[in-house]
Amino acid sequence: MGKQRVAVQPASGSLSARAGSPFSVSGLGPPGSHAPRVDKVPPMGPDDLRIGHGYDLHRLEPLPPAGAGRALVVGGVRLEHDRGPVAHSDGDVLLHAVTDALLGALGEGDIGQVFPDTDPAHAGRDSADFVREAVGRASAGGWRVASLDATVILERPKIAGAKGRIRETLAGLLGVDVSRVNVKGKTHERVDAVGEGRAIEAHVVVLLVRDDGEGDLERVD
Ligand SMILES: [Zn+2]
Repeated sequence: MGKQRVAVQPASGSLSARAGSPFSVSGLGPPGSHAPRVDKVPPMGPDDLRIGHGYDLHRLEPLPPAGAGRALVVGGVRLEHDRGPVAHSDGDVLLHAVTDALLGALGEGDIGQVFPDTDPAHAGRDSADFVREAVGRASAGGWRVASLDATVILERPKIAGAKGRIRETLAGLLGVDVSRVNVKGKTHERVDAVGEGRAIEAHVVVLLVRDDGEGDLERVD
């Protein structure tokens, strides 16, 4: 169990437990009803947080010999389908969006700059390598992942049965508990390229927190 640093009452309106920080919201609601309980919390400010957004899309084509699609892999998990992404690497749309979210939070550009698709070294490459590189850059910069939320938009197959494995794979790559990772699947209501099964999209947001080396933030009630 991690070090107990933050005590947050689950009452609605309790947006922050950090009295005195820029995120403090004491004074909201009736007196006493939402008052956050604070236990010896070191000051945390904007310099301790970074948020990043990632987006990716890949065209889906039939698998060879009918087309140029690669096997469909989403979040490191293989999905059975008669189409797959056209890509220089393995075409894992979700891991690409995760990588871009991490690089974005770090202010280090995007996946195309760090891993150019003109580089033969990246041909067919396991996209987990890209995430590992981005996580390594975060660690080197003194950051760790607080949470990640992802949406995969794919008409078929449904990812519902794979979401648990995708979450576990992402959590493993990010070095966090699976509870800090969320994966949502949506269709595109049969409209446009994604809805017609000709493309797959992913959106990701990630929150990084300054890693002070004192372990995990622990939520206690
Ligand atoms: Zn991509």
